[in-house]
Amino acid sequence: MEELNKFYKTICNLPCMIPKDHPRYESLMMRERIVEGYKMGITVLQGLIAHGRGEMFDYVLGEKSHDFALKAEKVAVALMMLSKRPVISVNGNTAVLVPEEISELSKLLNAPLEVNVFHFSKERVDRIKKYLERFGAEVLANCDAELNGLSHGRRIVDRRGIYVADTVLVPLEDGDRCEILKKHGKKVIAIDLNPLSRTAMMADVTIVDNIVRAIPNMIKFAKKLRDASREELEEIVKNYDNRKTLRLALETIRDNLTKIAEEKLRDI
Ligand code: ATP
Ligand code: MG
Repeated sequence: MEELNKFYKTICNLPCMIPKDHPRYESLMMRERIVEGYKMGITVLQGLIAHGRGEMFDYVLGEKSHDFALKAEKVAVALMMLSKRPVISVNGNTAVLVPEEISELSKLLNAPLEVNVFHFSKERVDRIKKYLERFGAEVLANCDAELNGLSHGRRIVDRRGIYVADTVLVPLEDGDRCEILKKHGKKVIAIDLNPLSRTAMMADVTIVDNIVRAIPNMIKFAKKLRDASREELEEIVKNYDNRKTLRLALETIRDNLTKIAEEKLRDI
């Protein structure tokens, strides 16, 4: 038993057990980050399960940023740039998966981060805030206002942030809050790998891409569009059709599955 304990302790103390040449290294590292986040009190167990749902959709999408996602990412950036009070909502999974990147995007778009979680406690919110501040972001987390129409933790917001925002970027959102944000007259940009979720269906712009690719892509667009005129930005946003994005995402999944099934079945 003593030996076993020693062995177990050694394993747990190792920073990471995933070898770089593992064929699913990137995917496994995301899991490691979320598990580490749990140990830090930033992610919750339910977040691990939600990530699993995302992984499944990423798998059938071929784990890449498709053209429909890149288009939505560009439109999202232009829309944030056109907004008076854009805010980026951050939950536990987002905080551990892309802390540097979301902070950089926040600065480029002049849009503060706001901690907003489903499984609410002031301690958890403060931990996420402190963690993100290490990456130089402005993080709102006063929890001093409530969004009418919601009964769970996501209703608790910051008076200076989501409460008064005109556009909210909501990565890994849950459907009910997306609906309420819309009811409050805000534009909603979602990042969600599941094109069938209520969030994806309800948002004004749905980015069907993994957050670990979506945010770096948005950073690139934000840098490219830094000097664009209002007219140029409006041109990008004009005529954007979110239904088309969702349809393309579903068709891509369908075609990918057909292709994968044919290839894999041929090989066995
Ligand atoms: P809804 O309430 O909108 O119907 P849901 O119940 O399917 O959504 P939630 O658990 O509320 O899902 O939120 C998690 C969502 O985030 C899932 O749709 C999942 O596909 C997506 N997701 C998880 N991990 C990622 C990721 N890394 N990148 C992008 N999307 C992700
Ligand atoms: Mg949900």
